[in-house]
Amino acid sequence: MDFLRPATWAEALEAKAERPGAVPVQGGTDVMVELNFDVRRPDALLDLNRVAALGEWSAEEDGRLRVGSGVTYARLIDELGDRLPGLAQAARTVGSPQIRNRGTVGGNLGAASPAGDGHPPLLAAGAEIEVESAARGVRMIPAGEFYLGVKRSALEADELIRAFWTRPAGGPQYFSKVGTRNAMVIAVCSFALALHPAERRAGTGVGSAAPTPRRAVAAEEFLAAELDWDTGRLDPGLPRRFGELAAEAASPIDDVRGTADYRRHAVAVLARRTLTWAWHDLWKEG
Ligand SMILES: Cc1cc2nc3c(=O)[nH]c(=O)nc-3n(C[C@H](O)[C@H](O)[C@H](O)COP(=O)(O)OP(=O)(O)OC[C@H]3O[C@@H](n4cnc5c(N)ncnc54)[C@H](O)[C@@H]3O)c2cc1C
Repeated sequence: MDFLRPATWAEALEAKAERPGAVPVQGGTDVMVELNFDVRRPDALLDLNRVAALGEWSAEEDGRLRVGSGVTYARLIDELGDRLPGLAQAARTVGSPQIRNRGTVGGNLGAASPAGDGHPPLLAAGAEIEVESAARGVRMIPAGEFYLGVKRSALEADELIRAFWTRPAGGPQYFSKVGTRNAMVIAVCSFALALHPAERRAGTGVGSAAPTPRRAVAAEEFLAAELDWDTGRLDPGLPRRFGELAAEAASPIDDVRGTADYRRHAVAVLARRTLTWAWHDLWKEG
């Protein structure tokens, strides 16, 4: 197995163009497990750790944050937790300190697992994924169009993930996850909510309850229409209905972590709770 170590982003793109079968490695917390268990045996690994630009994040002129695909969960929590609270909450639930010190949202996107914890907050915030190839240059892919199937994304064989772009939170954000224990656990299901009060709408992301992470679009439309953005009054039936609509967006399976019925129920509970927390935060802050 060849081990390719580009020093720059341009070299990395060239290497991926020449060897589309080369498997990129960032933190290696997914890739190394797959190699150890012989899930795949690629003819080349493309180590991105020398490409310093991937470990950087910046505030861009349009007000959005551009977060390099090599920024670890630990750094995201420390350096961006105040601006991306939903994603930081999700990051805190990933693995252990060791995994958070190596693992990245870029790698979560590359793996595109339906259970990846980074995906629901990216969907709820309306993030975009910046991908690039040597042949065709940069493509910006809305998170809602990135996930195509179980561990399948819109990334082409000659493309690499450069960064994700998202606005700093304009309102309360929450991520909540059900697992079979409190730490080091793959989500049985998860849910992210982002309130966008300036636009009088909310974004959602459902995790581990369908072949791909996905938005609960009808639930979002319900909130935009029904939330009382003028007085903050929250009719008790509203979070319940929101939960039902969020559960309807799921299409879960029975597996070792939980049944489809349980997952639907749990998504409804998580949606109801995150809405209640976020709405209270919004009105507490005035
Ligand atoms: C013990 C343990 C616990 C875990 N717990 C969790 C958890 O709680 N929640 C969770 O979501 N995940 C968890 N994971 C999975 C893993 O840590 C995450 O998916 C993590 O985000 C992967 O990031 P990474 O940088 O290590 O990716 P890598 O392993 O380096 O790569 C992952 C995938 O992305 C591709 N890739 C990496 N960088 C790029 C790039 N720039 N462009 C294109 N493709 C790229 C790789 O080829 C590979 O297919 C756990 C893993 C372990 C071993």
